Amino acid sequence: MKHQVLKDIFGHNAFRELQEEAIDAVLNQEDLLMILPTGGGKSLVYQLPTMMMDGVTVVISPLIALMQDQVASLQAQNIPAAMLNSMQSFAQTHEVIEQLLNNQLKFLYIAPERLNNQNTLELLQQIPINFFVIDEAHCISQWGHEFRSDYRLLGMLKHHFPTKSIAAFTATATHHVTSDIIQQLNLQNPRIIKGKIYRQNIFIATQRRIGNAQTQLKNFLNLHKNESGIIYVSSRKKAESLSSYLNQHGFTTLPYHAGLPPHTREHNFKLFVNDKVQIMVATIAFGMGIDKADIRFVVHLSLPKSLENYYQEIGRAGRDGERSEALLLFNAGDLAQHKHHLSEITDETYKKHLQAKITQIYRYATSEICFHKQIAEYFEDSLEPCGSHCQNCLSEFEQKEITKEMQMLLSAIYKTNQIFGKNYIIDVLRGSQDQKLLQNGADKLSVYGIGKELSKKEWFVIVERSLELGFVTIGEFQSLKLTQEATKVLRSKLQVTIRSQRLSELEKQKARVVQEEITYDKDLFEKLRAKRRELADELGVPAYLIFSDKTLKNLAAAMPSNKEEMLEVSGVGMKKYEQYGEEFLEILNL
Ligand code: ADP
Ligand code: ZN
Repeated sequence: MKHQVLKDIFGHNAFRELQEEAIDAVLNQEDLLMILPTGGGKSLVYQLPTMMMDGVTVVISPLIALMQDQVASLQAQNIPAAMLNSMQSFAQTHEVIEQLLNNQLKFLYIAPERLNNQNTLELLQQIPINFFVIDEAHCISQWGHEFRSDYRLLGMLKHHFPTKSIAAFTATATHHVTSDIIQQLNLQNPRIIKGKIYRQNIFIATQRRIGNAQTQLKNFLNLHKNESGIIYVSSRKKAESLSSYLNQHGFTTLPYHAGLPPHTREHNFKLFVNDKVQIMVATIAFGMGIDKADIRFVVHLSLPKSLENYYQEIGRAGRDGERSEALLLFNAGDLAQHKHHLSEITDETYKKHLQAKITQIYRYATSEICFHKQIAEYFEDSLEPCGSHCQNCLSEFEQKEITKEMQMLLSAIYKTNQIFGKNYIIDVLRGSQDQKLLQNGADKLSVYGIGKELSKKEWFVIVERSLELGFVTIGEFQSLKLTQEATKVLRSKLQVTIRSQRLSELEKQKARVVQEEITYDKDLFEKLRAKRRELADELGVPAYLIFSDKTLKNLAAAMPSNKEEMLEVSGVGMKKYEQYGEEFLEILNL
C-alpha cells in the first residue's frame, strides 16, 4: 500500500534511507522528531501518510513564502491544500474555512501566530485532523539559530489536542536543541530519527578574505560561469553595493534583503528561481524555502553567526545531488563585528551562548581538519575525513614543525595549574609584566618568558592548533586543560606540525602585493580553461585546484612545448605536472 502510494502519487520508485521508518511512525500515530539535512526528503514523510488517511493534516510553517510554495506544489499534483495566514483577505479565509468544514482539503498550512486566535482553535476542534506537522522545528528553541517567539505557542497543541500526534522536522539540531524541541512541544515518547549530516556533493573551502575580497570573489565566479549561486553578505547595504559592482564586471546578479519592498523581493526571487538571473547577493533573509535544486555554489563573504546558520545556508547548494561548492571568505575582523552586535543583548547566559557559537565557526574556518568531519561532529554525528570533498582533505599544504612551541604551551598550562585562559597563558609565555601575573609569582616559573620569540597572534594560532589536535580542552571560565594526548607531546612521543600558511598569513595579510597583469594569448587561455573545466568535471574536483587562472595565464604566455619547459612555468609543480601536465601540453602543442 505504502509503496503503491509512493509510486502512484509521488512518482518515486523507492523510499530513501529513514523515510520508511519515519512514515511508519506517523502512520502509527506516534510523535516523531526527524532531523534530516536539506534535500533529504522530509516532506514525503508527512505527505505520504496523509494520502492514506481520511482527514486533513495541519502543517505549521514559519514563513508565508514557504507555505505558498508547498501549497502550490501540492496543488500542482492535484492534491487539495490551502493555507491560513494573516495576509489573506476575509473572503479568502472564508473560502478555506468552508473547504475545511466540508472536508475537502488534505493539507492545511497555518502560521504559528494563528494559534493564538480563539477562532482558529475552535475551527481546528471541528475538523477531522490526521496529525500536526511542525516544519523547521528548531525555530522553537532559543538555543537554535532561528528562534521565533511565535513558535512557543505550539507548546499548547498537546493540551488542546491530546490525542493527535505531532511530527516535527528540522535539518539541524544539536542534542541541546533536540531536547528543547521535545520539551517545548510536549512530545510524548517521540520516535527520533536522525539522518547523516554529510553532504558529500558539496565541496567545502574557506579562505582568508583579502581586502574587500573583490578579486577573490571574481576569481571564484569566473570558474562558475553560467551557474546559479548565492553570495551571502552581512548587511543590506553590502548586498546592494556588491550586486551593482558585480553587474558592472560582467556578472548578472540581483540583491535580496529584508529592506526591499515585498514586490521587489518577490520579483528578484522569481528571476533567480527561473534562471533569468544567475546570482543572488543576499542577506540571510534569503534562503528559507528556496526550492531551487540546481544551485551550484554558495559563497559567504564573512563569517556567519554559527555553524548551524552556515550549514543550513550552504545546504541550499546541490539539492539535486550534483557537485556544488561552498566557499567561506572570512577574517578575524568578523569576530569583532559579531561581538559588537552582541553588545546589545542583556541576557548574559544567552550572550555567552551566542559568543561561543561565533568562536566555534571561526575555529572551524581556520582549522586543518576535514570540514565535513567538523560539521558532522558539531551536530554530534561522526564522520571519517572525507578525503576529497573539501579543501582541507584535498589540497596539499606546506607544513611546519611546531613540536617545541607546542611543548612550551602545554608546559605553561601545566605549570599554572590548568586554571587560566589563553590570554594569561600566552602572557606567561611571553614574559608579560602584567601585575596579575607578577602577583601570582608567574615570573618565578621556568616557563616564564620562554616563548618571547613568537607574537601574541602566533601564540593564538598555536592555541587553536592545540584545541584542534585535542591536546587541550576548554574548561570552566575558559580555562585551558590538558588531555591525555598532551602527555605524548610533553614526552616528545608525538611530532606536531601546522600548516605554515597559518602562521605566515598573519604577516602577509596586510602587505599583499598587487600582481601585475602579464600579456598572454587570450584564445589559448580560453582553450586551457575549457580543458580545465573538462578535467574538473571528470575528476569531480573544483577547477581552481587543477590550475589557478593565474597559472593558466602564465601557460598561455610562456607556451611551453614539453615537460621541462612546462615545469618552469610558475604554478606548475611536479605533482601537478604528473596529474594533468600532458593533457594541457596537448593543447599547447596544437
Ligand atoms: P527536505 O524538505 O528534506 O529539504 P524535500 O522534501 O524538499 O527535502 O525533498 C527533496 C527532493 O527529494 C525533492 O525533489 C523530492 O521530490 C525528492 N525525493 C524525496 N523523496 C524521494 C524518494 N523516495 N525518491 C526520490 N526522490 C525523492
Ligand atoms: Zn574533508
